[in-house]
Amino acid sequence: RENGLPKGVVVLGATGSIGTSTLDVISRHPELYRVHALTAHSSREALLQQCLKHRPDVAVIDSAEDAGWMAARLQEAGVATEMHHGQRALEEVAGASEADVVMAAIVGAAGLLPTLAAVRAGKRVLLANKEALVMSGNLFMRAVEKSGATLLPIDSEHNAIFQCLPGHHRGGLVHHGVTQLLLTASGGPFRGYDREHLATVTPDQACAHPNWSMGRKISVDSATLMNKGLELIEACWLFDARPDQIQVVVHPQSVIHSMVAYSDGSVLAQLGNPDMRTPIAYGLSWPDRIDSGVETLDLFAVARLDFEPADERAFPCLRLAREAMACGGVQPAVLNAANEVAVAAFLDGHIGFNDIPALVEQVREGVTEGGAETLEAVLEADRHARCLARAWLERKNG
Ligand code: NAD
Ligand code: MG
Repeated sequence: RENGLPKGVVVLGATGSIGTSTLDVISRHPELYRVHALTAHSSREALLQQCLKHRPDVAVIDSAEDAGWMAARLQEAGVATEMHHGQRALEEVAGASEADVVMAAIVGAAGLLPTLAAVRAGKRVLLANKEALVMSGNLFMRAVEKSGATLLPIDSEHNAIFQCLPGHHRGGLVHHGVTQLLLTASGGPFRGYDREHLATVTPDQACAHPNWSMGRKISVDSATLMNKGLELIEACWLFDARPDQIQVVVHPQSVIHSMVAYSDGSVLAQLGNPDMRTPIAYGLSWPDRIDSGVETLDLFAVARLDFEPADERAFPCLRLAREAMACGGVQPAVLNAANEVAVAAFLDGHIGFNDIPALVEQVREGVTEGGAETLEAVLEADRHARCLARAWLERKNG
């Protein structure tokens, strides 16, 4: 804030992996940030504990019952946090006048409307919820332009690319001598597996990521490489890049978070320990820097950096995402919706790991081309794709 008061922060998806890390960074800087609002879907005990600790003005949870339960506990504790519930309340806190910064850390399509509300209100939007941008790319970026919102990428790869680009990269990458964006990928827990081996992996194995500790949905996406596919689409929108300007590089140590190649032969990289508090702190403080609680990288402990191409035969999701982006229109929204249904079914033990790309590919083929110019068109494509995906699951499992 210009007046020297702490900035008001809204954390959408506060109880998740990104939300918790965000509160950790914020609590290190009470003179710079205060929590205006915290939201969660159903984890009322976790949200209650966060409210007792951070004392936000407002908290939002999905159901009226959970909101009532929390209001009673807060009153007993003498904490003045106001409880709200439901989808509309999420959009309201995202656009509230007390909010300077909105961390968009809801997982999946559920984050689209609240994230868009923050964008439309012209906030500094810290974007972790990549699915929102993947679904509505063109519309989303036009809304940013129109409102003058400051969109800062929190996904570690995009945050790294942002750090390696010149200050004002709008107006095309080529204009700045950028030849390629090098999107690094850890390869996930199943790097090196063939399809036969992948057919037998379990949800718990998929969620045991070698380098990052994350929510279960994104952990499965990392294991299928759909996460990298979604990130490829995300990078196209954020940096106004074409899919062929983005090269995926498997880098198992997850120490380089991504790179930018320039026409003079320079390749700039951002390195650090794999801890989301670094990109979160950068999003909060940009263009300044603040302490994030992350230790400086010990290069001697890292010792070596390896690189290899992605295995798109064993992990077709990367190709499916690239194709969806090339098709354009509602295809990325369809890809995302089909993937969300597939991942949930895999986590629930209803389908195998290789069924995830199979389901996504089937659903994509079943949806005709369509423009994604309006929010209604995007939401309709999302609904339609989920219907087709559920029908596929029913056919498969009887
Ligand atoms: P998570 O599952 O740990 O947390 C999700 C949060 O969203 C929770 O607070 C939950 O209550 C809330 N939520 C879930 N469903 C909701 C709904 N229907 N309505 C409202 N709120 C809902 O997820 P995460 O790992 O923190 O990831 C959050 C987002 O950040 C995802 O889009 C993910 O792709 C992205 N991201 C995460 C990481 C990471 O390291 N975890 C890294 C990069 C990007
Ligand atoms: Mg990432």
